[in-house]
Amino acid sequence: MKKLIGWVRQELGFHRNSNYETQYLNETNIRTAVYMSIVVISLEIWMLIRYVDKRPGLKFIEYFDGWTNYLILLSSAVISLTFAIRFRLKENAVERTKSISGIIVGILTLILDILMFIRFVYVRKGMKFSDLFDEAKYLIMLTVLICAYLIFEFFFASVSHRKAAIYGQFLNVIFALICLGFGIETSVYDVSRERQILCFVTMVIYAACLLIWKPYVSIIILSVAFTYFYKDWKPIMKAYDSPYAEKIMEANQINFLTFWIALTMVSISIYQQRLAEAKKDENLVSANARLKKLAVEDELTGISNIYQFVQDAESVMMTSPGSRIYLFINIENFKNYNDQFGYLAGNNFLKKVARIIKKTFDGCPVARQAYDHFVVLTKTEDVEAKIKEVRELIININTDIYIDVKVGSYTPHKEMSESTILTSESSHSEKELKAVGKLIDPRIAIDRARFACSLLKHKYDKHYMEYTSKLDMDFHKRQYIVNNIDNAVEKGYIQVYYQPVVWSESHTLCGCEALARWVDPKYGFLSPADFIPVLEEYRQIHKLDKCIWETVCRDIHNVTESGKHPVPVSLNFSRLDFELMDTVSVLEDLVTRYHVNKKDLHIEITESALTDDMGILQKSMQKLKEDGFSLWLDDFGSGYSSLNVLKDYSFDVLKIDMKFLSSFDSNEKSKIILNMIIDLATNLGMYSLTEGVETQEEADFLARVGCGRLQGYYFGKPMPLEQIIEKINDGTYVIKRLV
Ligand code: C2E
Ligand code: MG
Ligand code: MG
Repeated sequence: MKKLIGWVRQELGFHRNSNYETQYLNETNIRTAVYMSIVVISLEIWMLIRYVDKRPGLKFIEYFDGWTNYLILLSSAVISLTFAIRFRLKENAVERTKSISGIIVGILTLILDILMFIRFVYVRKGMKFSDLFDEAKYLIMLTVLICAYLIFEFFFASVSHRKAAIYGQFLNVIFALICLGFGIETSVYDVSRERQILCFVTMVIYAACLLIWKPYVSIIILSVAFTYFYKDWKPIMKAYDSPYAEKIMEANQINFLTFWIALTMVSISIYQQRLAEAKKDENLVSANARLKKLAVEDELTGISNIYQFVQDAESVMMTSPGSRIYLFINIENFKNYNDQFGYLAGNNFLKKVARIIKKTFDGCPVARQAYDHFVVLTKTEDVEAKIKEVRELIININTDIYIDVKVGSYTPHKEMSESTILTSESSHSEKELKAVGKLIDPRIAIDRARFACSLLKHKYDKHYMEYTSKLDMDFHKRQYIVNNIDNAVEKGYIQVYYQPVVWSESHTLCGCEALARWVDPKYGFLSPADFIPVLEEYRQIHKLDKCIWETVCRDIHNVTESGKHPVPVSLNFSRLDFELMDTVSVLEDLVTRYHVNKKDLHIEITESALTDDMGILQKSMQKLKEDGFSLWLDDFGSGYSSLNVLKDYSFDVLKIDMKFLSSFDSNEKSKIILNMIIDLATNLGMYSLTEGVETQEEADFLARVGCGRLQGYYFGKPMPLEQIIEKINDGTYVIKRLV
């Protein structure tokens, strides 16, 4: 029962429509008004012509008397049509202004209306005022309609589309009432002359179509119209002088009732149909809006995403480029926050961060670029104070965990001003400086700010870094390295330098370490510090390592071919090599191709590579060991987890980091530590090697405490193959292989 009541309520329209549905229904009614008014206009013109045709020879003013009704209908249809066309042509309310042609139509119909009024009063001279009011009701309604339209033109022409649609509904109602009134009046007149009630039928259909509102409203309007008409029609029918009067009366009543019900049903069904369309349309519109929002908004934090940021930044730089600065904000240690408090808490944290940044840089383009990275385009004034404020607020979100904020910045104009100073060219005009701001692609600007920010990593006392022209050069060098690694490998710019490793007892040569050098036609001699971190960052390091390993194997092969005994060479491996290529098969392949004895290759893996839990690395190391390569642990003691590494992995040689020798003379403790590490290595069944030996005292001490091998500038810097062969040939280095 409850369901049934609910359904009836729904069908009769006793529900609340959404704003969209109301707007849709109002607009469709106005659209219908276009067709309906065109039909009424054509019909009334035809009626006027017919009237003249049937009554030739009348004076114009006499025609005018008979025309009044047609002219009222014609004028109201013209007003209704004018409004509907205006509404549909200018769907965008912002563009809608007063329409001159609309005002002219309004004024002309008003003049016609006034003339009709004057004539009407003149013809009915001496009539009681109340009767006049009753007889002139349609003229009054027409006046209201025209005035309402003119008021709209003069005062509300630029209201919103929604309000204009409501206004249109109001005009429609007046138009429909005029139509209905005429329908009823004409048909009552026709019936008294034993004619059909077709005019009523036509007009009631017009009205029903014009006013598709809530069904219950349509039912009420139609019922009032039908009852009103029936009230006048019934006595006339009853008075018919016909033997069949009774029967005709009954049949007419049944037909009348059926028509009433049918029309009610039609208006309900049209309403429901329009409502369904409105709902479908609304869903589409809201889905579109959602998609549009997703395209420009960061889903998690609700601030702009990077695409929107780029657009906003472009328009800011186009309109007011002066003193603007791009910021790249990175939350340091956010990964640990996530690990400790969970993913959801991490998300909430990022939302708070977004809110802080947005509030501090209010009115500026702000976006989340990815993960815990945010970007801002703001004014240069007070920027450092604002960064400080943001940093403090973010750190204070949760003081239970170490979180820091690092910010890199890039100022388009500054870079140009600096380059002006550097190149001492004539100074650039303000206009030119602005042009730079306009030209810089926001993506590149962000990249530069990000680069400046990346230089703050692990610098615990610095939180802000500006991108300068010096950094610009580094930045370009980095880009160059990444873009040219393939070319460098192909053209032979990558070279291998060999650094001798000696026995501590006799200082005889026990091997060499292969160290990469990039001799570039543009940048000259590049050392690993320039290119290794960049290649690792961009995951290109395997290309370099593969090239170094192959060169080493080829060199060993050539030395062997020349009838000499090669010395073992240690190769540096990056942690990423194990991810980016199948290290085992690459090395196996090289060894086979160049007939290299596996004993002549040592694999150096730096300690920091082993901090992450990487199954793949462990498996590959195991395989290399089983294959007969010896594994060396490089830079032992440089990281935080040195002892763990010793526990979890097994190495043949421990290379002690050169930092232990840096304070050899000044700090007695370093000697104690070195001694302990060497003992530890021996106890764990490993050989030890100390790097960075630069003096005889260091070498003597290390030999005394039992470090088997030494490497460092004291014995020789890294050098090209020819040079080391020369030094072997002239007796500087004496080879002593492990037996
Ligand atoms: P590493 O493997 O620890 O290499 C030793 C570094 O210490 C070399 O620097 C070497 O020139 C330097 N060195 C040797 N003796 C002394 C000394 O007595 N005093 C001082 N101050 N320095 C000394 P280099 O050649 O610049 O290499 C730096 C790092 O770059 C290497 O450290 C290694 O981690 C990496 N690397 C070098 N070549 C390659 C390579 O082919 N592949 C990979 N993946 N990494 C490489
Ligand atoms: Mg090394
Ligand atoms: Mg090392």
